[in-house]
Amino acid sequence: KTADKINDKAIVKDYFNQKGFDRWRRIYGETDDVNKVQKKIRQGHQQTIDTVVDWLKDDGNLADISVCDAGCGVGSLSIPLAEAGATVYASDISDKMVGEAKEKATEALEDPSKVTFSVSDLETLSGSYDTVICLDVLIHYPTEDAAKMIAHLASLAESRLILSFAPKTCVLFVLKKVGEFFPGPSKTTRAYQHREKDIIAILAENGFEIKRKGMTSVSFYYSKILEAVKVK
Ligand code: SAM
Repeated sequence: KTADKINDKAIVKDYFNQKGFDRWRRIYGETDDVNKVQKKIRQGHQQTIDTVVDWLKDDGNLADISVCDAGCGVGSLSIPLAEAGATVYASDISDKMVGEAKEKATEALEDPSKVTFSVSDLETLSGSYDTVICLDVLIHYPTEDAAKMIAHLASLAESRLILSFAPKTCVLFVLKKVGEFFPGPSKTTRAYQHREKDIIAILAENGFEIKRKGMTSVSFYYSKILEAVKVK
């Protein structure tokens, strides 16, 4: 079991430093070298990012808060949040993803010092942040591992935790067809869906209750977004 777990993480890390890096930097980019399916995923992902950015902007206090973006990828969320005035601490297990994120941030931001990047497994992050966000990362881990990750992220969050994941009710079989999008041995696709009620229960166990919910569904991309706040 333990060996399996280490394996899951090692495979994910490897994937996002190699094949996955190439694929996802294109999907998360703006260039035309994506196929139809990849374009749909790009659109869906952008909707998820926009939902979260809008929630935070609506609160009207972005400039006063610190944000931890765990599993930041190429900075799709970190960069707009920093642009909107937040102080962002972004990290990812893949040094290639972090490298790309840094480049993008330097290009896009007037004040690149608003975002600090580091290479780290989210489970070894430390510190304390007003808001901790982890988007589209839990799809790479079974629910029991996700529970441990959420518990750790909750311990870093002073007031709020925002997560997104592929909900179990959706027909992710379409994703199984496009197994190329996920790490793992070629025949098996390692994309894990989670039940919304399980994730809500895990958040509750860690002292967080749901404030806002969002859902992005476009073909080939499904993501449930939960904003949970610390119970006072
Ligand atoms: N959150 C980003 C976004 O929404 O644009 C990236 C999502 S991408 C599908 C998943 C990312 O999670 C990859 O960049 C991968 O390297 C990262 N990741 C996977 N497992 C991780 C872990 N245990 N700790 C930190 N990052 C991790």
